[in-house]
Amino acid sequence: MRYSTLLLGFLIGFLLSCNQNPVQKTIHNLDKEKYTGKIIDMHMHTGLPHEIPAGTPSICRPSPCEGDGHATVDPKELLEKTLAAMEEYNISKAFLSGVDWSAVQTWTEKAPTRFIASPFILKADNNQLDQLREKYSSGDFKGMGEIGTQLNGIPPNDPSLVPYFDLAEELELPVLIHTLGIGPYMPHFRPSAGNPLLLEEVLINHPKLRLFVENAGFPYLEEMVAMMYQYPQLYADLSTITWVIPRQTFYDYLEGLIRAGLGKRLMFGSDQMVWPEKIGAAVEAIDQAPFLSTEQKEDIFYNNAATFLRLKNTVEGQIN
Ligand SMILES: [Zn+2]
Repeated sequence: MRYSTLLLGFLIGFLLSCNQNPVQKTIHNLDKEKYTGKIIDMHMHTGLPHEIPAGTPSICRPSPCEGDGHATVDPKELLEKTLAAMEEYNISKAFLSGVDWSAVQTWTEKAPTRFIASPFILKADNNQLDQLREKYSSGDFKGMGEIGTQLNGIPPNDPSLVPYFDLAEELELPVLIHTLGIGPYMPHFRPSAGNPLLLEEVLINHPKLRLFVENAGFPYLEEMVAMMYQYPQLYADLSTITWVIPRQTFYDYLEGLIRAGLGKRLMFGSDQMVWPEKIGAAVEAIDQAPFLSTEQKEDIFYNNAATFLRLKNTVEGQIN
């Protein structure tokens, strides 16, 4: 009798202590301060890589969904709103690409220290390579990509892309590639052409390539982890998935990457195209992740990109 009473007491105590944990966790999360340090945005565009026909469904997934699609299409307004958001969220640098190279130049001239200018590559074109070489030697471009040939159904291991990777490796350029399962609603886009395992030949043949993968290959988590384990030079950004997919789905994916021990190679990006208000949404999605420590946030928002870009500065150093 006495033992069963003791056992019952123990059980009640245990259950009560279990119940307290979620409460304590919530309070702890509310106590976490908002991130105010510097940010590097590794994924930004001067516009969309394609026209949006009238009636195109909203960009968010799964579609149809509500609350998106208010595009800022006037180029001047888009630049102004983007710079205002960068100011508001303390974004000191952004890896910027556009299909229209003159737009990239306009943005870079407006804020020369803010942007790492880069061409958006939708299609491999050998004639483009000479022009590109000139742009790199003049200093107009400092990065390569987004390489977005997957949007046209062309996977990263297509032979037509080899000269681009050769050039990027030779010039030691940071390279962003779209190799994942989601993309814009374009007629030739194929999720199957975005499996991160398709990067294997590229990385073997270009061991010095400074490559980072958009959205950490979402939703190919296992494949991405395998690639990042095998190729320690491979980095990834967390960009569009901060705002186009359900929040919990993003957190599940990010937590998978963090648990796999990859927190030192994940970099913040907004994937601003014609939705500058998504810059803030992207920052807040990461800042509010309940499982990230302050140090992990500093790494994602700034330190990992500083290492990848060879800036050799940390958020604690507070440099440009
Ligand atoms: Zn993009």
